[in-house]
Amino acid sequence: MNLLPCENINEYPYVTAHFTTREGGVSQSPYGTLNLAFHVGDTEEDVVENHRLLGEKLNYNPRRLIHMRQIHSDIVTVVSSTMNFESPPQCDALITNRVNVPLMVMSADCTPVLIYDPKNHAIGAVHAGRAGALKSIVPKTLHAMEKHFGTSPEEVLITLGPSIHGCCYEINETIADDVKEKGYENALLHQKEKVYLDVNTILYLQLRAMRVSSRCIESASHCTSCHNGDYFSYRADHQRTGRIAGVIVLRSLPA
Ligand SMILES: [Zn+2]
Repeated sequence: MNLLPCENINEYPYVTAHFTTREGGVSQSPYGTLNLAFHVGDTEEDVVENHRLLGEKLNYNPRRLIHMRQIHSDIVTVVSSTMNFESPPQCDALITNRVNVPLMVMSADCTPVLIYDPKNHAIGAVHAGRAGALKSIVPKTLHAMEKHFGTSPEEVLITLGPSIHGCCYEINETIADDVKEKGYENALLHQKEKVYLDVNTILYLQLRAMRVSSRCIESASHCTSCHNGDYFSYRADHQRTGRIAGVIVLRSLPA
């Protein structure tokens, strides 16, 4: 199984954070092979098996994993003891300080974001596509972590996972105007009468505005559309495709 470890977060001993790729699962085309989403038309048993394989590889119980019914919103959910794998909450960010409860964000072009607060031993998983980014889902997640766990944005580590980059994400003028109006003109790229959007630039600007240090922000260099052989891409695969995931889990601190 080919996983991308979050180098900055994994330097700490009681947390692990990774992003998946297409490789290492049992799903058939167009979900080949490590699709982790149930809602995309893949065979349910295959998705369950993929979750089992990933849990085995990363040493967690897949039944304890919390994922989301993602809706491109700015809703942040604090994980509670009543939540379970079978009934994921409808939201686009999860936060917790509970140990051995893995958090998962799924994506196919949108940016999956993983957050670790080493001081308060708390984590977050965020789904940040264009809509979520423009609704400030990542700053709202940091504010929620501040409120619930005492997190200070200056002290978190953040990794932006594989997503579609400005090289491939063409947008129309209406969206470009909206992006401009919200103050993110620097995220727009103009090429041969076409406009492209780099969502990660928006996320980066928002993080810097919250005083997250640039050395604490790690970014997976791969564009999911350019590297469609390695990642699911909603655009490059013409919408029928699987989902990669970012998964982060806290371990018990020594007593
Ligand atoms: Zn690209």
